[in-house]
Amino acid sequence: MKVYSPTSLQEAYEILASTEAKILAGGTDLMVLWNSNVAKLPQVVVDIWRMKMLAQIDDEGEVLRIGARCTYTQIINNPLTKNFAPALVDAARTIGAVQIQNRGTIGGNVVNASPAGDSLPVLVAFDAKVEIGSLRGVRTVALEQFYTGYRKTVLAADEMVTAILLPKQREDEVSKFYKIGTRAAQAISKVVMAARAVLQGGLIAAVGIGVGSVAPTVIRAKATEGVMLGRQIDDELVTAARRTMMNEVKPITDVRSTEFYRRTVSGNLVAKFLREIV
Ligand SMILES: Cc1cc2nc3c(=O)[nH]c(=O)nc-3n(C[C@H](O)[C@H](O)[C@H](O)COP(=O)(O)OP(=O)(O)OC[C@H]3O[C@@H](n4cnc5c(N)ncnc54)[C@H](O)[C@@H]3O)c2cc1C
Repeated sequence: MKVYSPTSLQEAYEILASTEAKILAGGTDLMVLWNSNVAKLPQVVVDIWRMKMLAQIDDEGEVLRIGARCTYTQIINNPLTKNFAPALVDAARTIGAVQIQNRGTIGGNVVNASPAGDSLPVLVAFDAKVEIGSLRGVRTVALEQFYTGYRKTVLAADEMVTAILLPKQREDEVSKFYKIGTRAAQAISKVVMAARAVLQGGLIAAVGIGVGSVAPTVIRAKATEGVMLGRQIDDELVTAARRTMMNEVKPITDVRSTEFYRRTVSGNLVAKFLREIV
């Protein structure tokens, strides 16, 4: 295996353009796949750990620019994410334990494309964009459009994710992150949800809900959002939102949970969100 450790974007782009290579960030997904022989060892690896420009969190006005190589520990401790992305901080705190949080990156979570990736519902709920770079230039894609199917993304072989552009939570906005697994910690999600809302004069003036582990990719619960928008929070709305969410998710039964459980819990979580924010 040939391993490159570039320190500049140009260097990384040139390697990716000239050879078929696998990008390695924290390795917390890849090492598991390689060690268990689920994925074949690649001939060429581009280790991006030393690319400091990808490990920064910057304030860009309305959005936070979170470098793809930022770890969960960085996200948990950074004042910008603490102030403007509390739901992402809550999600980061539930990912693995400290060892994984020190090594796992947000770019790895996004590109790994697991429907159970815990940062993804937050990113979808807040309309995040993925910044993608290559020798051909830079493009941005809405996270919702980044996935084309189960574990499939729009990323081409010569491209890498350079950053996540995450709109800041507004001052009048509230957000929540809920992760349901077999245990309270160190568990893969059976259902994971992030929701945000703005309440004005007792009415829901804006809302965004992302749900994971309930479909082949993370989903934005647009039908449920539609039911909630412009409404006052009362028992009738809670019932309607719960029912819509239960119909909107498309879960399967697998080793971790059943379709019925996931539908029921998705409905319960949206009801919990409404009760908590009222
Ligand atoms: C014990 C354990 C517990 C875990 N717990 C959780 C959990 O609770 N929640 C959760 O969501 N995940 C969990 N994970 C999975 C994993 O830690 C996360 O998905 C993590 O974010 C992956 O990031 P990484 O940097 O380690 O990715 P890597 O393993 O380095 O890479 C993952 C994939 O992304 C690609 N990639 C990485 N960076 C880029 C980039 N910048 N551009 C293009 N492609 C890129 C790689 O080529 C690879 O295909 C756990 C893993 C372990 C081993």
